[in-house]
Amino acid sequence: MPVLFVGHGSPMNAIEDTEFSRGWRRISGELPKPESILCVSAHWETNGTHVTSTAYPGTIHDFGGFPRELYEVVYPAPGNQELAEYTENTVLKTKVEPDDKWGLDHGAWSVLRHMYPDADIPVIQLSLDYTKDPAYHYDLAKELSSLRRRGVLIAGSGNIVHNLRMIDWKNKEAGYDWAEEVNLKLKNLMLDGDHKSLIEYEKLGREVGLSVPTPEHYLPLLYVLALKEDNESISFFNDKTIMGSISMTSLLIK
Ligand code: ZN
Repeated sequence: MPVLFVGHGSPMNAIEDTEFSRGWRRISGELPKPESILCVSAHWETNGTHVTSTAYPGTIHDFGGFPRELYEVVYPAPGNQELAEYTENTVLKTKVEPDDKWGLDHGAWSVLRHMYPDADIPVIQLSLDYTKDPAYHYDLAKELSSLRRRGVLIAGSGNIVHNLRMIDWKNKEAGYDWAEEVNLKLKNLMLDGDHKSLIEYEKLGREVGLSVPTPEHYLPLLYVLALKEDNESISFFNDKTIMGSISMTSLLIK
């Protein structure tokens, strides 16, 4: 299976027909139908690494201040307990703990309901261990590579540039110059295969610091890049920076 990173942006993309939700729909048509999906979402951070292990994960509305319509969204995809156990056994770097409390957060379902509106593909989520550094996440992700050969679509969901404090509500269609430049710089590092610089992003200067003020929306990208094999290439889609400080840039590796 290919590997996917999606910039999810506002939860409203879940219920609106936007250029981004259309991009998600389009990309699903370019993929073989997955057996299952493993999503690494920016919105599930834990102490230790957890995997959802319930047969029927609930839809979590993990945001505030949005219209009621968004809270009424249910994404009824089943879980996959066998895949959760396989993931626990495959990752040797740490003990992956099964979790029967979490379900699907909006990092997963706001995108998946456009990609797979029938919700007929089982979905599990893998959490981000907030106690670990970027290199740890990158190394852990490499241990997931055998899932790809089992028909599992591994999808990271975050945003490459993500600074909510600096959002420019008056400029919905573009980013600040520095945000556009950082997005381009990070894309070029991806195309150059310079994963070391991308892992050590905190050394890339002040503008990158403004673009990635906290790690959780960036780390899912490292999971996806870690899974790229030498003979594969990266293609970008939804490649746009909006509202000053959010980039929706997404990528497919195959
Ligand atoms: Zn988010």
